[in-house]
Amino acid sequence: MVTLRINSPLLADFIREKAGEEGYNVVRVLSACSRGCTDEELSAETGIKVNVLRATLNRLHYSGIIRYSKEKAQTSNWYTYTWFLEKSRIIELLKERYEEELSSLKEKLKYEQDYVFFKCKNGCERLPFELALEYDFKCPQCGAVMLQEDNKAEIKSIKQRIKEIESFLKEISGKRNKRVKKAV
Ligand SMILES: [Zn+2]
Repeated sequence: MVTLRINSPLLADFIREKAGEEGYNVVRVLSACSRGCTDEELSAETGIKVNVLRATLNRLHYSGIIRYSKEKAQTSNWYTYTWFLEKSRIIELLKERYEEELSSLKEKLKYEQDYVFFKCKNGCERLPFELALEYDFKCPQCGAVMLQEDNKAEIKSIKQRIKEIESFLKEISGKRNKRVKKAV
């Protein structure tokens, strides 16, 4: 059984992409109540006004992150909604989201490693060597001299992101190695 770490930065980013900071606050509260929460409880716990909360709940529901059950009040036609986290769906969505980013990062990394880039000092678009050569190493946008770019920092940051995502994907697949306590 995989447990979602609600504080995990990649999980938080994903929820924020779908439903903003309010959405993340709602998800945090829901993760702590297995019996589900009503609108009123969520509003009280998150401090989000009921009308904003409803829009946030709709966005989360539309994305498949939460589900509800509704119950009709005995004395009126009002329904009470109780909201729950869709944990297994969230895991599926996280996998989709981050596997996609991972594959585009890997392509990007290969591109960065396979080509040498040239750029001018004015921040115009950089060009791979073959193209810069065609322009005689003069920037086609501003005419300034183009020099070889050092993309080591770029490569390093792509590799770090790849590592971060891979370890997150392992974690949500339940494949992460249990930490072994070091004997002192
Ligand atoms: Zn330029």
